[in-house]
Amino acid sequence: MELSDRAQAILNEARQAGFGDVAWREGRVFSLAYYAGEEVEQVAERAHAMYSSANGLNTEAFPSLKKFQSEVVATVTNWVGGDTEAAGFMTSGGTESILMAVKASRERGRQHRGVTAPNAILPVSAHAAFDKACHYLGVEARRTPVRDDWRADVEAMSAACDENTVLLVGSAPQYPQGVIDPIPDIAAIAARLDVNCHVDACMGGVTLAYLERMGETVAPWNLAVPGVTSISVDLHKYGYTAKGASVIVHRNRRLRSYQTFVTDNWLGGLYGSSGVLGTKSGGPMAAAWAVTKFLGDEGYLDLTRRAREACLRLADGIAGIDGLVVRARPDSTLLSFGADEQRHSIDVYAVAEAMATRGWYIDRQGPPPSLHCTVNASHADTVEEFLADLGEVTLELRGTDRRGRGGTYGTID
Ligand SMILES: *Cc1c(COP(=O)(O)O)cnc(C)c1O
Repeated sequence: MELSDRAQAILNEARQAGFGDVAWREGRVFSLAYYAGEEVEQVAERAHAMYSSANGLNTEAFPSLKKFQSEVVATVTNWVGGDTEAAGFMTSGGTESILMAVKASRERGRQHRGVTAPNAILPVSAHAAFDKACHYLGVEARRTPVRDDWRADVEAMSAACDENTVLLVGSAPQYPQGVIDPIPDIAAIAARLDVNCHVDACMGGVTLAYLERMGETVAPWNLAVPGVTSISVDLHKYGYTAKGASVIVHRNRRLRSYQTFVTDNWLGGLYGSSGVLGTKSGGPMAAAWAVTKFLGDEGYLDLTRRAREACLRLADGIAGIDGLVVRARPDSTLLSFGADEQRHSIDVYAVAEAMATRGWYIDRQGPPPSLHCTVNASHADTVEEFLADLGEVTLELRGTDRRGRGGTYGTID
């Protein structure tokens, strides 16, 4: 329809509000947003708009959303090596998938072993969302160290377990340094204790599936590993779809049943829900369906190849800059780097600030003080320019004592 002047003015104001946002479509932002080109974005946005007010709370009333969910879950199940027994749900994002993984573990422990003071074993590299989930759900988060190669220390995880353990977590890859944890060893402990093992493949689920198809050797990471009970994959990251889309896949329906919440203890009838949300926009579900279908294997292979090559060029380039070190060779498309303390004392947060003045947005993290790059296909065209600027900035800062501020990954106020 033709919009009134008033409606158009408001939409213009909304558009202008974004002019100060980071330039994520141009490959200058190494976190938070993913870009696979204008047509993919249009497919996502238009499908999203069609279903933004449809309600995923009850997919019986919206067979469209039921179809989107079951087809998207089937696609992801195939990526993560699930068989015909596997069963999953779409969620609003990695955090909700992780909340549900922790909830399912807690319920299983409570129902089958009477565990009332549950704990979860988390390598320090596991995402902050696990702490959040444990905090929300009354589960003790037991953080265990990582080895020198940043991968989970399996002996330490094993030693941290007791009769109240309901969950062990491994990541594929973990966010901070981008390496894959020893999933078979972690899952073996869980299998021995008969408790859940969740693989956080929020970042890697799409990429690792396609790296394998490209013939790269990928460490075992998914449901093909015995003992893994569930896995999460975020579609609003390397699925290149609109925000608000992740999938959790359980090894079978019985394990999935612990995720679902059901009550009839009120005056409104039987109420069941698969996740945290009640009313749930159909927009992200429709967008995820449309984008995964539009891209297909060929699209994801191409995007994965571009992101992977860009990431390796970035890692090599950073390793060649005097004063910086790459923390670990990336197993997927994430990497972090820090100051080469042996040679120069550079504050990497000052590096991030200097890069920001050149229009580059990089995440700051620690310990140890590091910068983090989540490399996606849109960086294929910008890595060389980024490296040139990074080299200049590092040279300028070498031997100075300029310091920068650490950043936060999320929002505090
Ligand atoms: C992004 C991420 C999460 C959290 O997902 P959100 O979509 O931000 O809620 C969890 N684990 C890993 C490894 C991640 O990269």
